[in-house]
Amino acid sequence: MSIEGDFVRIGTAEAASSTISKGTITLGEYPDGSAITSPVIVAQGAAKGPVLWVQGCVHGPEIAGPLGIQAFLAKLRLDTLRGTVVCLLTANPLAFRDNRRFTPQDGANLNRAYPGHSEGALSELMAHRSFSIAVEIADAALDLHSGGDHLICAHHVFYHDDGSVLGSRSAALAKSVGAPFLCNVPVNSLIGAAFLSFAARGKPAVLVESGGGARVTPEDIENHARAIRGAAALLEMLPADDRAVPSKQGGDLLILRSTRGGVFHPTAAPGQTLVQGDEIGRIVNLFGEVVEISRCPMTRAWLAALRRPYMPVYSGDEIAELSALA
Ligand SMILES: [Zn+2]
Repeated sequence: MSIEGDFVRIGTAEAASSTISKGTITLGEYPDGSAITSPVIVAQGAAKGPVLWVQGCVHGPEIAGPLGIQAFLAKLRLDTLRGTVVCLLTANPLAFRDNRRFTPQDGANLNRAYPGHSEGALSELMAHRSFSIAVEIADAALDLHSGGDHLICAHHVFYHDDGSVLGSRSAALAKSVGAPFLCNVPVNSLIGAAFLSFAARGKPAVLVESGGGARVTPEDIENHARAIRGAAALLEMLPADDRAVPSKQGGDLLILRSTRGGVFHPTAAPGQTLVQGDEIGRIVNLFGEVVEISRCPMTRAWLAALRRPYMPVYSGDEIAELSALA
């Protein structure tokens, strides 16, 4: 990775001024010695400016991220771009190839493995290799997610604002992506998440969620394309984006789990506002009997993500993600 004059080189992608370059970066090796790579795209504007790092598929099935990147690039006019957008399409290429949320080889959640380790296990090594490039060159970072196969997410953005200058820059980045719900999570709630690791190194970063339940909609793709345009506009890399989105502010994140096994019947919807005791869903056994009712345990909360309807669950499976409302 290097930036020399007007020339940006990331892995095998080499972009000059006013060009889009495609290539790969190497994140590890297979047992046969061949390289574990991720596709990377570097869009270099006509003028020099900041570097925005965008990554997708930290979780293998979350294809809305790469599709959003493609949609963004399809409409990008390089003559209006100041600076460089670097797009890592599969942050976890092993999980992507296997269509699994976690790395098949070590079972790790890549979004709990950042900033990674140069001598760590496979997932930590892959995290280290991409993160060390990103944190060296980028002025800000977007991590694009789409709920995965098990959960349906409302469109929202995670960031961490502790009241510091950096925190306020992450908050501004969160507002710029155009999500209707902003979730300011404590630093210890998602340890090892990429966006928190960027922030720990002094770089504003956010995680954008849209989609899930094993499907991608055109709206999810546009949400991610718009997130990149909005972040680039905030960094004065592109002209200001069009619409202002009214947003709702949430805080601490709570993951609600089942204690029983059965089939999940939702009785609430992602994006809904809940108060303590409101029903979220039911676990029903194969005799058709309700064995558990999941309820909102917080005083007031926003339902960020909900288990896919009628999905079989184990006891201890994640049913919902809730963000505290004031
Ligand atoms: Zn994800």
